Amino acid sequence: MTQIEKARLLKILYQYRAMGFEYFKEYKPVGSKDTSSMLPKEIGQLKESVMSCHLCNLSKTRKNVVFGEGDENAKLMFIGEAPGASEDEDGKVFVGRSGTVLTNIIENVLRLKREDVYIANIVKCRPPGNRVPTMEEVSACKPYLMQQVEKVNPSIIVALGSTSFHHLTGEYETEISKIRGEVLELGNAKLIPTYHPNFLLRNPSSKKEVFQDMLKVKSLL
Ligand code: SF4
Repeated sequence: MTQIEKARLLKILYQYRAMGFEYFKEYKPVGSKDTSSMLPKEIGQLKESVMSCHLCNLSKTRKNVVFGEGDENAKLMFIGEAPGASEDEDGKVFVGRSGTVLTNIIENVLRLKREDVYIANIVKCRPPGNRVPTMEEVSACKPYLMQQVEKVNPSIIVALGSTSFHHLTGEYETEISKIRGEVLELGNAKLIPTYHPNFLLRNPSSKKEVFQDMLKVKSLL
C-alpha cells in the first residue's frame, strides 16, 4: 500500500470513528497475504515507512518515532515496551537512565558491544505520560516489530518487562516475576523474559535476578 493510500484509508477510519464506530473486524479477502508480508522486506525501507506512520493515536503526541537500532545480523535481540521521554526526544531506542542500565547489562554482564545486538520496542511511539500501550496501539505497531525480528532472525530474544513478554507470547495472565529467566520458544528464537531496566531503577534489589537471567543468555550465545 502506498503512503497516499494509507493516508486515505486512515482518513476514512477517522471519519468512521467520528461517527461512533470503535472496532472493525479485520477484513482479509480470500487469497490475501498477511499484513506483515506486505511490509518492506529491507530494514532500511521498513524504517522509512515507519518514520511517517500515523496508524494509531500515538502519532498525535509523539515527537519522534523510535524505530530501533543495532546489528541487523545480531544473534541477540532485546525487546522493550515503548519509548520514554528521552527516547521520544532523541528518536533513539533505550537512551536516558534506562538506556544506561541496558547498556551496562550488555557490556558488563554479557561482555558485548551495544552495537552488536539489536534493540527495539513493542510500539515505536511514546505513550503519553509513559502509560502502558493499549491493545489497539500494539496491534497497529507490532507488525513492524515482527518484520524486524524476521529480518534480524536472532537466535535469542530477551523480552524486557511484562508488556513485552505478554505481547510477544500472548500469555497475558502470566506474571513476569513467575516466568523471568525461563527459556521459551518464539518462532526460530529462544525467548528469555526478564525485568525491564525501568523496573530495576525502581527496584535495585532485582538486579541479581536479571544478572542470573543474563548469565543464562550468555550461556546460550
Ligand atoms: S506507535 Fe507504531 S503504529 Fe502507532 S503511530 Fe507509532 S509507528 Fe505507527
